[in-house]
Amino acid sequence: MDLYHQDHFHDECGVFGVYNHPEAANLVYLGLYALQHRGQESAGIISVDERLFLATRGPGLVADVFRRNELDGLKGKQAIGHVRYSTSGGSNNARNRQPLMVDTAHGGMAMAHNGNLVNAVEMRRTLERRGSIFQSTMDTEVIVHLTALSRRKSFVERLVDALSQVEGSYALLAMNEQCIIAARDPYGIRPLVLGRIGENSYVVSSETCALNLIEAEFIRDVEPGEVILIGPQGVESFFPFPRRKRCLCIFEYIYFARPDSNIDGVNVYATRKRIGMRLAQEHPVLEADLVIPVPDSGVPAALGFAHASGIPFELGIIRNHYVGRTFIEPQQSIRHFGVKIKLNPNPDIIQGKHVVLVDDSIVRGTTSRKIVKMVRAAGAKSVHLRISSPPTTHPCYYGIDTPTQSELLASSHSVEEMRTYVTADSLAFLSLEGMYAAVNGHGLGYCDACFSGRYPVPFPHHEENAQLTLLQENQEFER
Ligand code: AMP
Repeated sequence: MDLYHQDHFHDECGVFGVYNHPEAANLVYLGLYALQHRGQESAGIISVDERLFLATRGPGLVADVFRRNELDGLKGKQAIGHVRYSTSGGSNNARNRQPLMVDTAHGGMAMAHNGNLVNAVEMRRTLERRGSIFQSTMDTEVIVHLTALSRRKSFVERLVDALSQVEGSYALLAMNEQCIIAARDPYGIRPLVLGRIGENSYVVSSETCALNLIEAEFIRDVEPGEVILIGPQGVESFFPFPRRKRCLCIFEYIYFARPDSNIDGVNVYATRKRIGMRLAQEHPVLEADLVIPVPDSGVPAALGFAHASGIPFELGIIRNHYVGRTFIEPQQSIRHFGVKIKLNPNPDIIQGKHVVLVDDSIVRGTTSRKIVKMVRAAGAKSVHLRISSPPTTHPCYYGIDTPTQSELLASSHSVEEMRTYVTADSLAFLSLEGMYAAVNGHGLGYCDACFSGRYPVPFPHHEENAQLTLLQENQEFER
């Protein structure tokens, strides 16, 4: 199981597409800016001008990848874009940047994918036996090949044919010279929304915050299992797959999505605040002087905690915004260093105080341990750590970057052992029931596998997949 995680299929990503707008690529560029939190390792945009596919892809942040002249070169009235962060060794390989673009017997095609296919290695092996030649190690390329090989008549039918053969999570954009297709997996694990600019221009985005930026009107969420064809005939919707129990990733609400987004109609910021209120009820801290968030991820929950408990809220830790997310640092030694550069306690606020520290999650525990020590060194009399989610005990196989199970602190430590490790005076996590009470406004279904180990989409031949994937990765290093 752990081996599997070291593959290159664990991407955190954002997708954005614009159909029928003279500034399509520029709007996608702006949309990707608003989705930057979903992936910082590479970015790309592909536009279609008449029959010509134009691409710019590169490593780094959106601001680094696209220069003015490159954006100007992305002509045409339709474009799709992608931001990506992946843990894999091969991820910074230029071949693993999206959107993907290929020529097929039916013409050009581009694809951008957020999610993770659990049967990708199996499918890839089958395709390779049939003669397919893969250019990248991304699972998305499996969908590209299956689409290209399909004998169905139309583009949308070929894509549906391909998607019916894959298992896992996807919020996907596919584009040919005439249309953009948006698809969300039958479980609805990753979010995807549809919007409009003006009368006849359409936008598809991972999150609503990107629609807000370009002043697009929100139409609705793409439904789980829905395929939306946006083309000369307008917008058509299909539900070609067997219905599944809806399983939206609950971690989108806890950490991943931007607070100003709404997912499936529920506002992320308001949800995080409710979670914080609930946390205060479940695990109060008596005689605390201050509630301090770990910025930025802990801020909404800390506000909720302060509100419910009546303890004053203070920004006792200041974040340096010019440092990348600490989680990106690949080495343990660098990560320790990273936390120090990124977060600074404010001793004037903290000195002599009993402090409630609020963060959204503990993954390896490295960040929490560092921060608790920093806050204590800044003069806190006591540090009570409150986490606005249940203990993260299991890795994600559907598109959130988590380390291997053995690296997850909560997988092998009790809460008391974790408290000792992070050196807090007390430590408490929100209960699973509490999380649901705060999130589940509509009684909808969620994937909570990272907290419960209940994986909604089974992964076939797991061990075998792991072996194969490692093999492919090794080969890549040898080249
Ligand atoms: P750790 O030091 O490994 O326990 O990391 C915990 C910190 O990482 C918390 O402050 C979280 O906000 C943050 N975090 C949790 N999940 C992720 C993720 N998938 N990507 C980046 N950061 C994360």
